[in-house]
Amino acid sequence: MEKVRLGRTGLVVTRLGWGGIPIQRVGDDEAVSVIRAVIDMGVDLLDTARAYTNSEHRVGLALEGTHKPVVLSSKSQVRTAQIYDDVHESLRQLKVKKIDIYHLHAISTMEDYDKAMGPGGAYEGLCRARDEGLIDHIGLSSHNLDVLVRTVDEGRVSVIMACYGFLEPDAAAKVFPLARARDVGVMAMKPFSGGVVENAGAALRFVMSTEGIVPIPGTETLEKARENWKVFTEGGPLTEADKEYIEAVRKEFDRRFCRRCDYCQPCTEQIYIQFVLGLKSTIKRFGAQVREAGWMKDMIEKGRNCTECGECLRRCPYQLPIPDLIKENLSLYDSFMSGEGK
Ligand code: SF4
Ligand code: SF4
Repeated sequence: MEKVRLGRTGLVVTRLGWGGIPIQRVGDDEAVSVIRAVIDMGVDLLDTARAYTNSEHRVGLALEGTHKPVVLSSKSQVRTAQIYDDVHESLRQLKVKKIDIYHLHAISTMEDYDKAMGPGGAYEGLCRARDEGLIDHIGLSSHNLDVLVRTVDEGRVSVIMACYGFLEPDAAAKVFPLARARDVGVMAMKPFSGGVVENAGAALRFVMSTEGIVPIPGTETLEKARENWKVFTEGGPLTEADKEYIEAVRKEFDRRFCRRCDYCQPCTEQIYIQFVLGLKSTIKRFGAQVREAGWMKDMIEKGRNCTECGECLRRCPYQLPIPDLIKENLSLYDSFMSGEGK
């Protein structure tokens, strides 16, 4: 089974990890059986986060029933040294004494980076946790490639998490070579671009063709977990059919797919643009749970304040028609909430 060394952490893991976002969508029992099956298949890197509601808890439940060694990765969005308390909570949820890798989660801008890495910031809290033996390695996840380049360049973390898939392939040229040169491990998240891509074969063969990284596709069903594992173990380059599929999906989504990089910010109306642009995918992934998710409502209502001022359009490197996409996503959300949508 193909293994990869996660940079200077020295950890050697199977070159297919597992991501803990989708597992939030199923019940406890199903979640536990999927996670255990994934471990039994041979996956030995599990990623979760404080922000993924019940995900850490479910990973913890699954780990109680297995003795196979697993590398655990979790993360917190706290930006101050108080992140130390989140590490304790993660340990409690995961029911372990130590977490192998703990990330600063979703550092979206340089200001965010400065806050987390500066005096009194989250990095200090994670150093304390590491000194006390609560975690082994510090990592950083971001959707912003400039932030990742700076992170690797400054060399204060051992692992990064970057989005990588055929709809957002830029990290391969911009970030991965530098990470390799600096011996920083790379976990590649969102190989299916947040659920936009449905062809597991094409998506995984694409990311697997890049050496030295560990893709971490999330799965919430046995069927999907087995499918991913099959693609991984069979290996092989992209097929002609994969290439045609990739071309077609790129054509369809190139000017519609939000890479969640936040370059468009700040919005003059404080709209969290990437969140609103991701509504269609959120509804697709979380279904009926979206109707109950009160925390989303404020962010969604803010989206209705778009004045079409065009400020964000100048900043989006992918030339997305942001105001149009906001309207489209809100209208889809409205019809979903009124019961017309699926
Ligand atoms: S066009 Fe809309 S989303 Fe873009 S900056 Fe203006 S108000 Fe914000
Ligand atoms: S709208 Fe453009 S700039 Fe804003 S997060 Fe999406 S891809 Fe990035």
